Amino acid sequence: MQVFKFGGASVKDAEGVANLGRIVATHKNKALLIVVSAMGKTTNLLEELVKCYVQGMDSAANLLEEAKQYHRSITMQLFPDASHPVHNEVTNRFVEIDWILEESAMDPYDYLYDQIVAVGELVSTTIVSHYLNTIGLQSRWIDARDFILTDNSHREGRVDWKVTTARIQERLPELLESQLLITQGFIGSTSENFTTTLGREGSDYSAAIFAACLQAESLTIWKDVPGVLNADPKWFDQTELIPELSYLDAIELTYYGATVIHPKTIKPLQNKNIPLFVKSFIDIENGGTQIKRTNESLPVPSFIFKVNQVLISVLPKDFSFIVEDNLSDIFSRFHAHKIKVNMMHNSAVNFSVSIDDTGGNVSALLSDLQTRYDVQHQGGLELITIRYYNQQTIDRVLVEKEIIMELRDSYTCQLLVRKL
Ligand code: ASP
Ligand code: MG
Repeated sequence: MQVFKFGGASVKDAEGVANLGRIVATHKNKALLIVVSAMGKTTNLLEELVKCYVQGMDSAANLLEEAKQYHRSITMQLFPDASHPVHNEVTNRFVEIDWILEESAMDPYDYLYDQIVAVGELVSTTIVSHYLNTIGLQSRWIDARDFILTDNSHREGRVDWKVTTARIQERLPELLESQLLITQGFIGSTSENFTTTLGREGSDYSAAIFAACLQAESLTIWKDVPGVLNADPKWFDQTELIPELSYLDAIELTYYGATVIHPKTIKPLQNKNIPLFVKSFIDIENGGTQIKRTNESLPVPSFIFKVNQVLISVLPKDFSFIVEDNLSDIFSRFHAHKIKVNMMHNSAVNFSVSIDDTGGNVSALLSDLQTRYDVQHQGGLELITIRYYNQQTIDRVLVEKEIIMELRDSYTCQLLVRKL
């Protein structure tokens, strides 16, 4: 059996859903489980809705209406018959949010977030499943929350692999024998049956979980790019497609910020030796990238750019050393503010890190650190990571840039820079 994953961009409109249908039709008669994200920018919209709702703003209702309209326009194009059951089902999915909005927000933010934002995936898969049935591809809608068990960490649910594996293996292989299965990315459920989400862009990870538990032949992620490129075309004019990539290089590239696949996706596949294809949903004949077990290293240097970085330098106020006396305290403060470190460097009395400037929680972290340390910070920086670097690649990215901090190991070079 195989697993396909379709992201939001691939199903952003009726034509996208039709295109998904054409891709799936080319795999007719093969056992296939299809994981789908929320359509287009729905997750962003619902995230905004949660914020407004929690702040008691009336605009929450308008945003909900916008989400409904957007999906209604897609369903009306795909199912012009107004009596088709899909219309009611989509309405019912949104009722969950209607109900929540009727009351004022009492529950914790992250919990509410998961209950509301998950509706995006529940709706998209409802539409896709019905659509495949209308074009003669018999499909069954599966609720991912019946299979993916997580802990209670809302917005970043940690998967209970043991229970999840057992549930998937017990029920899905038999169902796959007679039909396509359509399920949601990004969502799971706690042991008390509350909806959780796995972190933004987590649908890739969901697909990898299903693929690993089902020991799939392969997982294919259908994207709006031709495959894994050696840089994001947003930053580089001349990018190259990487036809083959080792699991290790893929993990490293995503760890340093390559956004083509979610970082958690690779490991479960690597453990089961399941190849991952990253292919274009626009140009489906194109081979794309295959990520697999291989000792070959990347054929070309790869570049990862992260803008909007802030460099934070922490110095003890007393005469203590950073590593021996303070490191675990510093890390626990980063952890408490949910801040991920992109690059770090320490000397005897100084610890410097580059992090994403996400606003509110960064200011909170700074105030927190200042209670015990001397803290300096500098924003507006860019972090450039080059895997398989050489001097030429470094010179290429440093045009009109000044280096603020630099780290190199045998394979990877990280440059924190400021525009001149
Ligand atoms: N819909 C979710 C998001 O936009 C999950 C995903 O697309 O992977 O983050
Ligand atoms: Mg997405």
